[in-house]
Amino acid sequence: MPFNIKDKVEIEEEGNMIKEFTVKTSRRNEFIDITDRVANIVRESGIEEGICTVFIPHTTAGVTINEKADPNVVRDIISALEKLVPEGAGYRHLEGNSDSHIKSTLVGASEKLVVSSNRLLLGTWQAIFFCEFDGPRTRKCIVQVIKA
Ligand code: ZN
Repeated sequence: MPFNIKDKVEIEEEGNMIKEFTVKTSRRNEFIDITDRVANIVRESGIEEGICTVFIPHTTAGVTINEKADPNVVRDIISALEKLVPEGAGYRHLEGNSDSHIKSTLVGASEKLVVSSNRLLLGTWQAIFFCEFDGPRTRKCIVQVIKA
């Protein structure tokens, strides 16, 4: 039986927190900055030193960390992925969204972040982006914070 994520969210134990939030996307390929939402969960956890994992429970989406300062960086990443993995390029998968699955695998389903002094240790220009590759949809993000 598949693991039901809903059974596991909103669990808070000492030194461990897991939460889920949703992201609404509006385009087929789109990156959405989720840094503030992840940072709020870290703050709420009260964990001073630890690890924060962001996990995307979808096969046609992902998560990545990259530059937020210039929005053209994200635009360039999306157009590079579109060139690298074009839509409808003779794939076998009958659902017709193989490019979305391939982009999801290239980007990855999780990111691990360092938590220090109850904050995410991100570089000045870095942001955490939810990556949509088969939108528009409503998606889930799972965040787990573990005490080191
Ligand atoms: Zn599919």
